[in-house]
This record gives sequence, C-alpha cells and structure tokens, in this order.
Amino acid sequence: MSSSHFDLIVIGGGITGAGIALDATARGLKVALVEMQDFAAGTSSRSTKLIHGGLRYLKQLEFKLVAEVGKERAIVHKNAPHLTKPEYLLLPIITDGSLTKFTARLGMTIYEWLAGVKKQEKHRVLNKMQTMAAEPLLRSDNLLGGILFYEYRTDDARLTIEVLKEAVSRGALAINYMKAESFIYSDAKITGLKMRDQLNDQTVELKANYIVNATGPWIDEVDIIDKPQNQDKLHITKGIHIVVDGNRLPLKQSSYFDTFDKRMIFIIPREGKTYIGTTDTSYSADLINPNVTMEDVSYLLKCVNAVFPTVQLVNTDIKSSWAGLRPLIQKPGKGPSEISRKDEIFESESGLITIAGGKLTGYRKMAQRIVDLIAKKNKGVNAKNIKDCSTHNIILSGGNVLKESFPNLLIRAQAIGITEIEVEMLLNRYGSNIDSVLSMMEKLKEPSSNINREGEETHIPLLLIAQLHYCIENEMCFSPSDFFIRRTGALYFDIETVILWEKQIVLYMKNILNWDEQLTSKFCADLTLAIKQAAIAE
Ligand SMILES: Cc1cc2nc3c(=O)[nH]c(=O)nc-3n(C[C@H](O)[C@H](O)[C@H](O)COP(=O)(O)OP(=O)(O)OC[C@H]3O[C@@H](n4cnc5c(N)ncnc54)[C@H](O)[C@@H]3O)c2cc1C
Repeated sequence: MSSSHFDLIVIGGGITGAGIALDATARGLKVALVEMQDFAAGTSSRSTKLIHGGLRYLKQLEFKLVAEVGKERAIVHKNAPHLTKPEYLLLPIITDGSLTKFTARLGMTIYEWLAGVKKQEKHRVLNKMQTMAAEPLLRSDNLLGGILFYEYRTDDARLTIEVLKEAVSRGALAINYMKAESFIYSDAKITGLKMRDQLNDQTVELKANYIVNATGPWIDEVDIIDKPQNQDKLHITKGIHIVVDGNRLPLKQSSYFDTFDKRMIFIIPREGKTYIGTTDTSYSADLINPNVTMEDVSYLLKCVNAVFPTVQLVNTDIKSSWAGLRPLIQKPGKGPSEISRKDEIFESESGLITIAGGKLTGYRKMAQRIVDLIAKKNKGVNAKNIKDCSTHNIILSGGNVLKESFPNLLIRAQAIGITEIEVEMLLNRYGSNIDSVLSMMEKLKEPSSNINREGEETHIPLLLIAQLHYCIENEMCFSPSDFFIRRTGALYFDIETVILWEKQIVLYMKNILNWDEQLTSKFCADLTLAIKQAAIAE
C-alpha cells in the first residue's frame, strides 16, 4: 500500500466505507481502505440487521429518506440474495397505540408508493382474529387488528465484508487493524495520511488525491486530527438488542410493536433464537465498547412482557446481547428518536471529505454521492475517466448463481458428513462461496492435505474449522473475535458454540497464524470480555 499513490483513501471499514470503496473501484479509481479494528466492528455489526425502508420516519415527514432507502431494499436484495431474506413483519394495532387502523393503512400506502414496492410485496390488513392467528402470543384484550408488511433481514457484518470483498476483487486494497492517526499536507491541502498498525505498532504513510472520513461514530475524532477547532457534527445515540432462546419466546411471526412510551420495537426470530430491540438513548462514553446496561435490559423486558404477557421474560432468559452507536447529525433541540437518519457530506478547508449519518440500507446511494462529488471536483484524476455509478448492477461476493444444484451440494455434504441444515446455514452465510467452504472441508478430510492443521488434536468440528480457514484466507479474519462475532455472528445467535470452543479456537489460530504469547493473551482476553459483555455477566 505504501508504495502506491491512490486516487482515494477511505478511512473506516464499516458499511459506509466499504460501499465507497466498491463504488469508487468500479468507476475506475485506485482505492485504499483502512480500518482500525476489524471490518464492521463499529456500528455495522451492531444494527437491528434489517434492510428496511424506515416506516417510522414517515412520522417525521422524511419522505425523501423513506423513498430512497425503501427503493434500495430491492437492490440490496438483488445484489446479495444470500444475505437478505424477505421477512414479513406484523404491526399490531392496539387501542391507545401510536397508530389507528386508518393511519397505519394510510402510512403503509404512502410508504409503499414512495418505496416503489411491487404488487406481490404490498401490505396485508388483518382483523383481530387473523392477527391472533398470525401471532398467538400477542396480548389480545387491547388488540384491534394488524398489518403484515414486507422488509428484509440481513447479516450486517457479513454484508459489509461481502461489499468489501467485491471491492477488493476489483482492485481495491483494504486492511484492518490499521488506524489513521494523522494527515500529511502540502500547501495546506491533505495529500495523505499516517496510519499505525494496531498489532505491531509500526507506522505507514499513504498518499492520495482524496481522503474520505467514513468513520461513523468516530468522524468527529478524525475531523479533529485534521483541524482541532472543528466543531462536533454528531449526536451519538445508543441502541441495544437482547437475544433469548426461541423456546422461551416461541414466536410464529416477526413483529414491530408499540411500546408503553410510544416508541416502536422489533422482535425477530432467527436461528433458533429471538432478538429484541432497540433502544435510543444519548451516549457519550467509550465508542469501541458500548455496553448493555441493566437499565437498557429492564426497559426492553418491560416492553416485551407488556405485549406478550404469557411469556414474562426475566434477566436470566437473556442469552446474548449487543449495543451499537448511531452516528446521527446534531440537530439542537431534538430528542434522540427525533433526529433525522439522513446522511450529510462535509468538506474541510484542507479537503477532507466527511460523510455522516445514514442507514445500512442506504449505503450504496451514500457511496454514489461521495464518488459523484469526487468526480465533480476533477482534481488529479480526470473526471471524464470516472465512469457512472454501476453498483446497482454489481452482484456482491457470494451473491452469484450457485455452480452446483442444491441436490448436488447435498451429495457432497453427505460425503463430507454434514447435514442438510448445515448446508442451508452455509448457503445463507457464504452464498455462492459455499463451494470454497465445502472444498476446504474436503481438503481437510484428506490425510495427505498440506493445510496447516497444527493443534488439530483439539477436536474442533470440521464445520467450524473449515469456516475458520475460509475466513482467514478470504476475509482477513485475524482474531477469534473476528471469527465468532463478525464472520459467523455466533456470539449473538449461537453463544453456546462460542463458549464450548473458545479455548480450542484460540489455540488453533495461535498455531496456524504463529502468534506469540502476548498476542495470544490479548486475543484470548478480548474474546472472554466479548462473551462476558454479550451474556451480560456480572
Ligand atoms: C442499534 C442500531 C440499529 C440499527 N439498525 C439498522 C437497521 O436495521 N437497518 C439499517 O439500515 N440501519 C440500521 N442502523 C444504522 C446503521 O447500522 C448505520 O448507519 C451503519 O452501520 C453505519 O455504518 P458506518 O460505516 O458509517 O459506521 P461504522 O460501522 O461504525 O464504521 C466506522 C468504522 O470506522 C473505523 N474507524 C474509526 N476511526 C478510525 C481511524 N482513525 N482509522 C481507521 N478506522 C477508523 C471504526 O473502527 C469503524 O469500524 C442501526 C444503527 C444502530 C446503532
């Protein structure tokens, strides 16, 4: 990286930075992306994991935002079908709720019109009986009816990583655990940056025509490196989610329901668990490790128990949790939930381009706006050579048509010794790249394979080891937390597996990646802390 001159350096490997790297690379720019933690370790692995149009933003009259992200849903689904699954959500209508049957239907009609929703995906209105049949656990005495509407469920961290893999396959260079620490100037204009390797402390300089600050909740910190007098742009709010066993809350149906304090909360069954969120409270503490407090938990439990009264969840039902930070643009006088989720672009006198706000769902349009701006500025690179945005037609890594039919995959899986359910899980996680994961398993099974399997006596299941090798070789997975949190989502939806195999995975990675004792202890401690925080252990 340090030997090249780039057209564009992107700081931040969340969905915003990844999207910009892909858009710019596809339009012919030479791009580098630097991320100080793991890719997606910021907000982009801590969202509600929905590709959604933001129905509630209609209340704030955010028509443009709703129209844009609403339309983007279908594009994200088309380009990453393995990671975006259609999900019907039930909106129960209750007496004294924030919506009446009339306003809910009106809102839904406007929403679908703005978002250009296809006829077959339009909402359905349910009467009370139908609503109870859709979700029998709902409180019934105040129920008037319901509306079923269509959104998409995703894996936010994997979406970010697949966008980045696609950018890298087209020529971008991306690196994690590298922090942008200071800028290099020529005639008071930014021409590069100094970054520090977070694992071995070495510094490296990069040169570029343009630098984009896409650091989400950290944009003010990076702006201050450019100019200490820069005013804060962000109002950061925290949102948490809790995860319980599907057996404790056996929902038939994902829902989006009213709370006692007139907010809206999602409750979504997934991989045998059910997750619930989110909250929205102003936040000003540690950006790297926002934690879930007992106050946050009590609030969510109170909301769920009011709507599903026969369930009565308690603290000990919580298997896992996560907290994320919304990088919202400051609007004095507005409460956390009232601040717009719109994105905005700022430029400093020295030329640093900063993008703030936005949604996971709208990442592609945010990227387009940034690269359009660069194309317009026409500095160093010839604007005529910057092609038009084409990301609406770029199928992301893993989103291609499968090389083999599903029955053929099952025959391969049987020979390897994995089940149909496990094949489906791999398909949902890696899409068309499943072929590489299965090939890895086949190679690992061969006694003569030359794959470094030191430490194999730990008896880690083949399914886990093959994914680990795939993620190390193709996704810059470098630590056990990278694997268990961002590459597989296991910390959130299968924490039992993480607890069962954490020690063995650390040992296995130490052996194959040649970590010294210091790095091993660091990664071990990081994972232990992550498990403790997720499980809300004292
Ligand atoms: C609780 C919650 C729920 C949400 N739910 C949804 C949802 O369901 N659907 C939806 O569409 N949107 C949702 N959002 C919004 C969405 O998650 C965010 O808009 C999006 O993830 C922000 O991505 P980002 O890339 O801008 O920031 P981030 O993902 O935080 O990425 C910024 C990156 O910059 C890195 N960085 C910081 N400083 C430096 C530096 N000096 N050098 C190098 N790297 C640096 C950080 O480590 C970080 O990884 C939700 C947000 C929250 C908080």
